[in-house]
Amino acid sequence: MDPALRAEYLEAIGIDVWVPRTAIGGGPVAQPPPAAAAGAWESLRAEVMRCTRCSLHAGRTQGVLGVGNPRAEWMVIGEAPGAEEDRRGEPFVGRAGQLLDAMLRAIGLSRTHNVYIANVLKSRPPNNRDPQPDEVAACLPYLRRQIELVRPRLLLAVGRIAAQNLLATEESLSRLRGRVHQFGELNTPLVVTYHPAYLLRNPADKRKAWEDLKFARSVFRQLTAGTPQDGHRS
Ligand code: URA
Repeated sequence: MDPALRAEYLEAIGIDVWVPRTAIGGGPVAQPPPAAAAGAWESLRAEVMRCTRCSLHAGRTQGVLGVGNPRAEWMVIGEAPGAEEDRRGEPFVGRAGQLLDAMLRAIGLSRTHNVYIANVLKSRPPNNRDPQPDEVAACLPYLRRQIELVRPRLLLAVGRIAAQNLLATEESLSRLRGRVHQFGELNTPLVVTYHPAYLLRNPADKRKAWEDLKFARSVFRQLTAGTPQDGHRS
């Protein structure tokens, strides 16, 4: 693995390998200094792991914070960890995760390179039930902090539950698709598509998901026009 990229992953999981930003990519980067960023990730991870803000902590194996490049320009947001994610401590590692990886690959993205992936909830709801409003309210601040740290150019919300909770709306997924929304104080552009678990059950809608991905890619290109891009900051 490229040493600079490896250093960034280590930084995100809280292992101290201090590499000046200029040594990673050259040129100024509008990011917190490495020590501050690493410290912020470390304390966020620790808080999530010991979080008892909602009752879900009682039934989880562990909190599931996120995975991917902590300086990716794309961030994917799902709903909540499932059984496999709860066991392994990583978002989207079950069958839906494999499909998500394939969807991302189709537009040149991968969790090992240029995407950061997280969920609205960090703890697994029992029997994969929908997140409750109080659980979302308790957990959203963690996601907001992740977004502030990653500072992605574009958010991709996968599934109705993630989209509705992020956008504080009850509009249907079909009405939310195909538009550019904004999220949070940073007004980060947000595009919506189907959840991969839904697509596993309804493969006929994969065609529409592909339209969404192409739309997201074109939005990203417009947002980054004029800057050299491969999906993560150099
Ligand atoms: N579904 C989600 O929304 N997130 C995961 O991490 C896994 C499945």
